[in-house]
Amino acid sequence: MMTITESIEKIKNEIGEKVTLVAVSKTKPVDDILSAYNSGQREFGENKVQELVEKYEKLPKDINWHFIGHLQRNKVKFLTPFVDMIHSVDSVKLLKEIDKRASTDKRIVNCLLQLSIADEESKFGFEEGELLSLIETGKYKEFSNVRICGLMGMATNTVDENKIQGEFAHLRKVFDNVHGTLDSEHFKILSMGMTSDYAIAVKEGSNMVRIGSLIFGERSYH
Ligand SMILES: *Cc1c(COP(=O)(O)O)cnc(C)c1O
Repeated sequence: MMTITESIEKIKNEIGEKVTLVAVSKTKPVDDILSAYNSGQREFGENKVQELVEKYEKLPKDINWHFIGHLQRNKVKFLTPFVDMIHSVDSVKLLKEIDKRASTDKRIVNCLLQLSIADEESKFGFEEGELLSLIETGKYKEFSNVRICGLMGMATNTVDENKIQGEFAHLRKVFDNVHGTLDSEHFKILSMGMTSDYAIAVKEGSNMVRIGSLIFGERSYH
C-alpha cells in the first residue's frame, strides 16, 4: 500500500499543476491529516461541521479548510469564522445565512454553488434554473460578504463512464455560461471529481478535485 505522502504525489502528478487537490479527510484522524500536511498539503475537505471545527482547533492554522457536505443553516455560524471555502451552497436561503454570519465575523467567505447534475435525489444542489436566475437577476450581489468563486457538482455513482462524463461536461457548460454572464475575476473554480471519477472530471475541465479514499484509504463509516 502507498503512504499518504506517496498517494498525494501520485495524484498531483496525474492532475497537473493547474488543478487544486483538496484532500478529503472526513472520518480520518488528525495524525493522518498531519502526515499529509507534513508533505506540503494545505487544502483539506470535511463534510461534517462539528468534525471540521474540532480538527480546525487541533491542527496548524495555515490549513485551508473546505466544507464539502450538506450544510444546515443553523450550523453556518460555526464555520464562518475560519472556513476557507464552502463548496456546497445549494439554496439562496443558505447563501443569505452565510452572508449574515460572515458579516458578523467581518469576513468574506468563498463559496461555490452546487449544481445538481446526478440522477440520485440524495445529491443536493441547485436546480439549473434556480442557479441561473440567482446569477442573471443579479440577486447574488445582495450578499456582499460572500464571494461566489465557482461551481461544484457530483456525478451519479455509476460504473457507466459515459454517463459520468456527460454530467461533468454539462456542469462545465453551465460553468462557462455563468462565467460569461458574471464577468467576475473571482469566478474561476470548477470543483468536480473524487476518487472514482477525478480522471474523467479533469478531462472535462475540472480545476479542483476532492479526493479522500485514494489518499487516506477506505472509510469505515459515513
Ligand atoms: C467524501 C466526499 C468526497 C471524496 O470522496 P472519495 O470517494 O473518498 O474520494 C468528495 N466530495 C464530497 C462532496 C464528499 O462528500
